[in-house]
Amino acid sequence: MGLSKIIDENRRSADQLGWDPSWFGVEDWGTALVKAITAFQRAFEIKPDGWCDETTFRRILSERDEVETPKRPEVLSDHFIFAGERIPVPGAKIITMDEDGALPIRLQGERRRRYNAVERPPESVTAIIVHWDATSSAAVTRRVLEAKDISSNFCIDWDGVIYQYVDAACETYHAGIGIVNDVAIGIDLNCEVGGGEKTKEINRRLVDKGRLPRPIVDGVRINGWRPKPFLGLYGEQVAALTALVSAITKHTGVPLERPASTGDANDIRSLRRARDFGPGIYHHAEVDWKREIKGKFRRSGKWDTSNLDLDAVVRRAA
Ligand SMILES: [Zn+2]
Repeated sequence: MGLSKIIDENRRSADQLGWDPSWFGVEDWGTALVKAITAFQRAFEIKPDGWCDETTFRRILSERDEVETPKRPEVLSDHFIFAGERIPVPGAKIITMDEDGALPIRLQGERRRRYNAVERPPESVTAIIVHWDATSSAAVTRRVLEAKDISSNFCIDWDGVIYQYVDAACETYHAGIGIVNDVAIGIDLNCEVGGGEKTKEINRRLVDKGRLPRPIVDGVRINGWRPKPFLGLYGEQVAALTALVSAITKHTGVPLERPASTGDANDIRSLRRARDFGPGIYHHAEVDWKREIKGKFRRSGKWDTSNLDLDAVVRRAA
């Protein structure tokens, strides 16, 4: 992309997502901004193209630490909502869309009609797609998704509290691919991820806030690429995911199966083709097959949720 195109794209992105050059420490929209965004991207080990797209916006919004989590109710629910009905999730802490402290996502744009509005019968829901959100909280993620007019059904916050963004009977727009969104429930896991020089810096900040540091994940392979050390999930989040997966699979047509598993939790590969996608539970990266070009996976492909042993989650959810 040429410089003038990048500058145009940054203006468009700023209009849609709600940021301005001062977020990157500069005053105008020209070369200085592109340079500042590029430096910011390099620090996070994300593609340094000078364009503040959604991926970069998630990071800068989290760095600014301005989006507050609504006050939590004293007693949290232990059910989620499917077609308006309460489905029990024993042991979980959940805030559904209509409760005090909720974080509902309601699409406004052209996706409104197809997504978040049409209720699917339970048996037509046959997949769960697990994402990480690459932000500092479920509240930040909701802000990013709404700004992009996309959605997910759940987000498991850093402390294991499950926010239900959208009724689980409704399709949400999270996988980027229609045939996946049609049949899947999307679950985001909150994680700053870090990457590159930001990994340790973010952990220091978490400790300053009185939180435990996140585990540092190393030695993962994702479609042949070995990322630098990055931040992993807290145990509470994995426990909450296990409880939620167990409850969802009992109520819907999602089988407790891992069709894309390589058997090695540190080696995640995408399905080769759309026709390989069937009922089961997936990392987002496993259904990102459209990123494969001439037999090679592009470095920019999705890599969530490559720190998570999803096979173990499925075994424990049984
Ligand atoms: Zn994802």
